[in-house]
Amino acid sequence: MIYTDTRDKNVQVDFRTAVMSGMNSATGGLYIPISYPKIDSALINKNTEPSFREIAFTMAKPYVEGEIPDEDLIHIIQDAYPFISKVVPVDTVSYVLELFHGPTCAFKDFGARFMARVMSYFNKKENGTLHILVATSGDTGSAVGSAFHNVEGLDVTILYPDGKISPLQEKQLSTFTGNVRALKVKGTFDDCQKLVKTAFTDGDLRKKFRLSSANSINISRLLPQSFYYMYSSLVVRNRCSHDNKIENPAIIAVVPSGNFGNLTSGLIAREMGAPIIGFVAATNSNHTVPDWIATGNYNARPSVATLANAMDVGAPSNYERIAAMYSLNEVKQLFASYWLDNDGILKAMNDCFIKTGYILDPHGSIGWQAWSDIRNGSMENLMEGKAGDYTKPGLTPNIPQWASAVKNKQAVGIILETASPAKFGATVSQAIGKEPPMPDRLLKVMSLPDNAVPMDNNYEQFKAWLEANLSK
Ligand SMILES: *Cc1c(COP(=O)(O)O)cnc(C)c1O
Repeated sequence: MIYTDTRDKNVQVDFRTAVMSGMNSATGGLYIPISYPKIDSALINKNTEPSFREIAFTMAKPYVEGEIPDEDLIHIIQDAYPFISKVVPVDTVSYVLELFHGPTCAFKDFGARFMARVMSYFNKKENGTLHILVATSGDTGSAVGSAFHNVEGLDVTILYPDGKISPLQEKQLSTFTGNVRALKVKGTFDDCQKLVKTAFTDGDLRKKFRLSSANSINISRLLPQSFYYMYSSLVVRNRCSHDNKIENPAIIAVVPSGNFGNLTSGLIAREMGAPIIGFVAATNSNHTVPDWIATGNYNARPSVATLANAMDVGAPSNYERIAAMYSLNEVKQLFASYWLDNDGILKAMNDCFIKTGYILDPHGSIGWQAWSDIRNGSMENLMEGKAGDYTKPGLTPNIPQWASAVKNKQAVGIILETASPAKFGATVSQAIGKEPPMPDRLLKVMSLPDNAVPMDNNYEQFKAWLEANLSK
């Protein structure tokens, strides 16, 4: 596969270059594949239970062709995914896609674990260790740390703002041993990011160590997220005729979004043949993308803090990929968009729990409420000309091409549940009056000793630590 750049269509690189460099520093653009090959219709049209790993292999293959042989790719996929996503029906036309069965209980495990194994694979041809530096405000760091833990040839240094993340998040970052370490920085997330950026531009340090990043703009994190869209849409299509007597359902993927990486992966799956007719882009009060869909104007802005904090993004990095793949008009045909404020998030968690018994996390609850409103009148109102106010929470005034399927009761929703509610116990208990059950792997991490190294917000101290602690 050839990869090009969102800012310069003349750029052509291979998969290895796209993965190892993360982004194109010459243009500031992001890598995207030049095509999205359709997968074999025999696999899509099978009416037996699909196999997650077979889908993963089949979908990944064209993107690594000529660079990773089949037997190595199979090995990467088996090693990355000892867990899969689960489709859970919560009512006759709503399915929750649980993406939190990986080690850190959030969907980022899917992307980070694939990326780690691909980087390790490519690094085998190089001399010495590749050192990954990541600044994190919470979730990304634990997914990356866990994904790279004990992966050959790589090590990870995580920087997080001391005292500014939840106790569970801190445990998930600071209890690694071996090739993953954490530094707790006396400063903010932005300070952590600055330390990392300074290290990347420090010629002296780069002469001594091979450094790389593992952030969410890396194409090797997006591609594997497309696997669960394909998988879940096939599962839902196959079971719909039993669940709700809808023979050819119009499947809508409802995606709680921040940087819009997850939703971009859904677009890739659809291009490759997943039976998904459209998407709901659901955000918290950081509604840059819903506003874009409502007004046609894209205005990135500073983020605001919300209860769904992994989506607190005012300038979503993957907007650039979406805009490179589709015109605004095409986006408006494909997407409904929706946003919810903190009060709405709490109410949605409680409503879902009362109506279905299902406990959502604050991110997934935005998706659930979006789908619930869309199928219970909001979309029909828009179709009848009752325009919504895009400056208020709710459905953005845009009528996608699949709106009539909602009106005709032919549509079913797959709501992506991006994290386990157990990671947000305090918010969940505020909303529904009880704590969600804790998975064993979170209980276990809470009891491990904290190994984080205290660090001042001081580049010289950070650099000296790296020089003393990283292997050559
Ligand atoms: C990262 C994250 C999101 C947002 O995903 P994007 O790909 O950035 O849109 C949503 N929910 C949770 C729990 C996350 O960790």
